[in-house]
Amino acid sequence: HGFSSLSLRPELLQVLTELGYTQPTPIQTQAIPAILAGQDIMAGAQTGSGKTAAFALPILNKLTAQICLQKTEAQDSADKPAIRALVLTPTRELALQVHGSFVKYAKLTQVKSALVYGGVSIDAQAQILAAGVDILVATPGRLLDHLRRGSLNLNQLEFLVFDEADRMLDMGFKDEIDAIVKQLPKTRQTLLFSATFDESIYGLSQSLLRDPKQIEV
Ligand code: AMP
Repeated sequence: HGFSSLSLRPELLQVLTELGYTQPTPIQTQAIPAILAGQDIMAGAQTGSGKTAAFALPILNKLTAQICLQKTEAQDSADKPAIRALVLTPTRELALQVHGSFVKYAKLTQVKSALVYGGVSIDAQAQILAAGVDILVATPGRLLDHLRRGSLNLNQLEFLVFDEADRMLDMGFKDEIDAIVKQLPKTRQTLLFSATFDESIYGLSQSLLRDPKQIEV
């Protein structure tokens, strides 16, 4: 199994086997160990490169390990999870796809993920958030709406992911991104994926990433 050498937990390796993933793609080979080691990353990646699993698998690996630890410490199992990973995407379509991937890869874990995007009722989303989730996939505008309403709390965030960062900037989400990042803990791991790199992406990376590993595939 080509993924075994990447030190992923058995719950994840088993799902990958079931999905018929035999070998990690180049971006997965480079990104997964770096993310597991706690590094920030800045990756050039096109759709179809396997970029979603490149961030979803190590995030799930780390969150699953934490959940198992909490269980053995016999904490109150009624405790609601806090959002520990936030994935920002430019569009609803990408948000749906990324959330679908998290659900698929998390099948044998207890990690819960949720999805928020604009154009639909905000109340139904707020109710799901109130029940507690570990991972939130969101478009920037609707995420800000939820932050302003107080329907979510990002104080315990550990991972921030930008998926298709170039499209997010092209679509004019810079102000939203700045407003969101202001509300996040400074100590966190930040992962940025972009198909293209220009001055504005480097600017964003410089202000948000800490000594990132640069990956080009
Ligand atoms: P993405 O670039 O994240 O949109 O992924 C493109 C497609 O490749 C998706 O349908 C994934 O399910 C699939 N995929 C991702 N990683 C692998 C892998 N290591 N082996 C086979 N298929 C994969």
